Amino acid sequence: MPVPNLLAAFALAVVVFVSPKVDAAAPFQHLQAPGFFRMMLGDFEITTLYDGDVNLDMHLMQANEQLLAPLLKADFSDTKFYKGYVCGFLINTGSRLILVDAGSGGHWGPPTLGKLLANLKASGYQPEQVDTVLITHLHPDHVPGIELPDGNRAFPNAKIRMARAESDFWLSKSTQTKAPPEAQEFFDIAQKAAAPYIKAGQWLPFDGDTELLPGIMPIPIAGHTPGHTGYEVSSKGQVLLIWGDVVHAEPVQIPHPEITIAFDADSESARISRQDLFQSLSSSGKLIAGPHMPFPAIGHIRKDADGYVWVPIPYIGSLPD
Ligand SMILES: [Zn+2]
Repeated sequence: MPVPNLLAAFALAVVVFVSPKVDAAAPFQHLQAPGFFRMMLGDFEITTLYDGDVNLDMHLMQANEQLLAPLLKADFSDTKFYKGYVCGFLINTGSRLILVDAGSGGHWGPPTLGKLLANLKASGYQPEQVDTVLITHLHPDHVPGIELPDGNRAFPNAKIRMARAESDFWLSKSTQTKAPPEAQEFFDIAQKAAAPYIKAGQWLPFDGDTELLPGIMPIPIAGHTPGHTGYEVSSKGQVLLIWGDVVHAEPVQIPHPEITIAFDADSESARISRQDLFQSLSSSGKLIAGPHMPFPAIGHIRKDADGYVWVPIPYIGSLPD
């Protein structure tokens, strides 16, 4: 073979070797956007912190399948397991940094939960900066995130606050003794999370419904647990109600607030609370944050001819300086 042909063959081989493959697949990246969402409420900064998601068995809903299935299908959701969400909410008032609910902390549920602390850091804060943690109730998807995996306090400088009825119920060994076997884990988790804060004098139940911090009022919402409490946040005439566990499955309980879930300690009270709240919130147009609403878990509720509709807040790309 003449030399020029050899060179040409070599050149072609190099070209073939180094040329990018036009049909090469880009590897999947897997990482999701950080799980936080930010908005302003008057002078306050509100940040939703995503703790994770969990498959919620629709057999827990207190309604028959003929009613449930069409609601879930209309939402394009699985009719057996609805993708449930868990979120907490960070409030920066300018002088205080307050967290409402702390997620599961990896102490309960599947590994898809327990991401709130990482998302708090991703949102620009450090857990040491949090001075108050307000808890809606002491269930294992709301409170154990105050505890690190090693048993130490995740929020070493924070007072942990909740309604006294809630603390008294879950921390009582005599109440636990009378509770059914399936509830034992809930008591154990709440007591374990509380222990290091009780020891440090930072576990501070409150009585009544007086303003806890400037612009933050506890709102008792009966039914889900003995001391279940929402928190109303107000600044410059703007109001946000963090309603705790008023709704677990948005496509089911928003159009049909009469449908309860097996987790409610008192189903009848929970139903009445939800129906009353929907009525008042749809007429007042107050903003709502719900730990189990689809991320970013903030929106409004609107009444229509067939019941109610959830109107999620849109993404906000730029905030005031
Ligand atoms: Zn919950």
